[in-house]
Amino acid sequence: MQEPILVLAEHLKGELADITFEMLGAARKLADQLKAPLYTAVFGKDVAPLTSQLGVADSVFVLDHPQLDMPSADVAAGLLKKLVEQKGVSLVLIGGTNVSAGIGPRLSFRLNLPFVNFCRNIRVENGSTIFTSQLFGGKILSDVRLPENRGVVSVYPGSFAADAGRSDKKPSVEKVDLPVEETKIVFKRYIEPEAGDIDITKQDILISIGRGIVSADNIAMVEELARALGGAVCASRPVIDQGWLPLSRQVGKSGMTVKPKLYMSFGVSGAPEHVEGMKDAGLIISVNTDPNAPIFGVSHYGVCADLFDVLPALVEKIKTH
Ligand SMILES: Cc1cc2nc3c(=O)[nH]c(=O)nc-3n(C[C@H](O)[C@H](O)[C@H](O)COP(=O)(O)OP(=O)(O)OC[C@H]3O[C@@H](n4cnc5c(N)ncnc54)[C@H](O)[C@@H]3O)c2cc1C
Repeated sequence: MQEPILVLAEHLKGELADITFEMLGAARKLADQLKAPLYTAVFGKDVAPLTSQLGVADSVFVLDHPQLDMPSADVAAGLLKKLVEQKGVSLVLIGGTNVSAGIGPRLSFRLNLPFVNFCRNIRVENGSTIFTSQLFGGKILSDVRLPENRGVVSVYPGSFAADAGRSDKKPSVEKVDLPVEETKIVFKRYIEPEAGDIDITKQDILISIGRGIVSADNIAMVEELARALGGAVCASRPVIDQGWLPLSRQVGKSGMTVKPKLYMSFGVSGAPEHVEGMKDAGLIISVNTDPNAPIFGVSHYGVCADLFDVLPALVEKIKTH
């Protein structure tokens, strides 16, 4: 029987993050295949109420401590190391997010276990687990086998369905008492990004523009289409770098990961750094003059045409229907 698998639950501002449920769903499937117990750990301040949502795990370990308000990666790795050793855990899953990204490498070093970064898929073949890791922003996918299925895995957000990690089942919760390390890095306050702008990760319909839009003056036309469809405008990095839209509208590696029902792109080439942030949209429709533009490779429908012809025609059509 495989030793236990542990998922580090991630939370922000009193709510469990989607990545927690994404990891729990994937880990539950793996634990069932390997016949291993599935544990989850929640560290933080006033986090005990969150444990009721973690019923997919067999056991939940909670450490509620005033000093653990947004703990530093070092503190979290120190606590995890102690818990892993105490509970005989062999495999640890941690979110590859801005909140948790620093914890995995530190834990791997402290435990002297291998580290798999940017994990996008997990499968079992002949009893051994294969972790698919994304390299170079998704240009290369590498299959990694961990000796005896032992290691630390950083899970790439959006790789697994969050629904599989949710359950109404009441979990078995154990309060753990672990010493919190002294640290020079202390959380002071959370700064909200650009208040007042819309959150593109919550939109059902996104109209995305790339360098092909040529000038800020042309954005009004795109906003008209977004308004007509009840959506919002987002963009590739060059549009943001030009200052034509705020950073909160950027999609991709150094921006937001979005999963709208409809993602329409105009004049976006589809560089891997952009595709990384939108490839899981429900329906992708792209307009580009270049028939070989990589964006067509991830689109459900492609229009090889000039966006300045398509945009006004589309707005006109929608308005008259
Ligand atoms: C570390 C790193 C992080 C990055 N992070 C991000 C990120 O988060 N998000 C992001 O988007 N990029 C990111 N990038 C940049 C990325 O590599 C690309 O440079 C960028 O995505 C290209 O943007 P684009 O598609 O708008 O521009 P281009 O690649 O220049 O493409 C413009 C497209 O518009 C088409 N076009 C031109 N005129 C028209 C017209 N009239 N009608 C229709 N089509 C037209 C062209 O055929 C072309 O395909 C990152 C890069 C690095 C190195």
